[in-house]
Amino acid sequence: MKLAIDGGTPVRTAPWPAWPPPLSDGQRKHVTQVLDRGLWGATQGTVCADLASEFARRSGVGHGVTVANATLGLFAALRGLGVGQGDEVIIPAYTFVASATSVLLTGAIPVIVDVDPVDLHLSAEAVEAAVTGRTAAVMPVHLAGSPVDMEPLNAVAARHGLKVVEDCAQAHGATYHGRPVGGLGDAGVFSFQASKAMTAGEGGVIVCRDEAVYGATWSTCNLGRRPGGAWYDHPEVGWNLRLTEIQAALLLPWLERLEEEITRREAFAAALDLGGLPVSVVPQPAGTTRDSRHLLMLRVDAPIEREFLLAAMAAEGVPLDGGYPPLGTMAALTGAGARVEPCPVAEAAARSVVWVRQQMLMDDPARAADVSEALAKVLASRG
Ligand SMILES: *Cc1c(COP(=O)(O)O)cnc(C)c1O
Repeated sequence: MKLAIDGGTPVRTAPWPAWPPPLSDGQRKHVTQVLDRGLWGATQGTVCADLASEFARRSGVGHGVTVANATLGLFAALRGLGVGQGDEVIIPAYTFVASATSVLLTGAIPVIVDVDPVDLHLSAEAVEAAVTGRTAAVMPVHLAGSPVDMEPLNAVAARHGLKVVEDCAQAHGATYHGRPVGGLGDAGVFSFQASKAMTAGEGGVIVCRDEAVYGATWSTCNLGRRPGGAWYDHPEVGWNLRLTEIQAALLLPWLERLEEEITRREAFAAALDLGGLPVSVVPQPAGTTRDSRHLLMLRVDAPIEREFLLAAMAAEGVPLDGGYPPLGTMAALTGAGARVEPCPVAEAAARSVVWVRQQMLMDDPARAADVSEALAKVLASRG
């Protein structure tokens, strides 16, 4: 069969579902209400506060702080936990660059360690091996929507007195041994950037259990004020890292349909039949009870040139994402002082793993066959 990239007929011509999905009535109503009342800022209205408490409640903790984006949210959470100059923070090599740059913002040094060869998540073993006298915190990233195996990781953290900040940017609604992510460490940070499972274009929220951590984190996001303090009283150094009420009004009603959207993505992932292909779904870490399926990571075990694979799949109407370059290979990070452990697994993943994006997973599960058919066609052409 002639490949679409060579002028053949593509496997799929229909567009994939749009992201974000169309506005719900609830979103339209809530946003209009905020706009009409003229209370657009978080210091004026109550919607940001409601969103923060709702995320805290769903994460099983007492406190939440909305924030302009998750990069700054991770920074504020680390800072709220006392991480700063001279400290080291252990992060996985296979993640988005913001996991590292948020650490740099605190003045601490990101220590980039390899990921687990099977599930590509941060492992307790990798953390244990990288701990030094300066290690202050560890940042498990719930990659693709599946939680890091947190019990062994928390045990290592407890043994060495490390703070644990969960990067939940891709894991809204995910659970580990039945417990929601965000409440599994000292703080958790969700993103509402345009590509995430809930979005207001940009945005984020931090959740945490401890009252003092909440106060310090809130203060970082609110110009050094104290919760409940006077407007011009700034006992700490902080910045304006706030979300807007308009964004929060898009997000709060989204929670009503999040579960249904996860179920839809799960159904698409479950329908994907890779039988006979040299392709497998990257397994979930132990303890995953709900994978929010932000992405479906596929490992391609075939000698096919990567640029060609991605271009040929796009031409077939099934555009896949090539995923992350290993963080340790980024000159900007090493130039800024990041310490890099050997990362052969992340390097192999950058060559062999591709992602099916969430908007594709939102399609009718019957259309999962488009993905397997296009893969079969493209891989056969180089067999
Ligand atoms: C998107 C993302 C971030 C950053 O979120 P922003 O809201 O865009 O700042 C951090 N970590 C991971 C793993 C992400 O996917």
